[in-house]
Amino acid sequence: MAEHTPGPWQTGHNLKFSHREETVWTDRTEYNTLIASLSRNFPGNETTANARLMAAALDLLAALEAVEWLPDEDSPGRLYCPWCGNYQEPYGHSLECERQAAIAKAKGENHAE
Ligand SMILES: [Zn+2]
Repeated sequence: MAEHTPGPWQTGHNLKFSHREETVWTDRTEYNTLIASLSRNFPGNETTANARLMAAALDLLAALEAVEWLPDEDSPGRLYCPWCGNYQEPYGHSLECERQAAIAKAKGENHAE
C-alpha cells in the first residue's frame, strides 16, 4: 500500500506555483513540492475550501488515529473505541464504526468502494 507524502501540507500563495489556480503543496523538502492543483470551476470560495480541506487531511487523520482506543474507567486495563464502543480486545472495531471507516478510506483500505 502506498504511503502519502509526509506533511505538513499547505495551501495559499506560493511563488513557485503562482501560475496555478489553487494548490496544495509541502515545503518539507529543499524544493517546495506540488501535491495538487485544483480547478477553479466551483462557485465562490469553494475551490479554496477544497484546498484547505486537503491540506488539513494529514492533521485530521493523525487526530483520529491518536484517539483510536481510550482507557475504560470502569474496566481498568481495557481499551475501547469512543465511536463504536467496542473493546480493542477481543473484538476490535464494529463493522459500522465511522472512525475506522474514515481512516480506512484515507489509507485506501476500504475495499467496499
Ligand atoms: Zn470503532
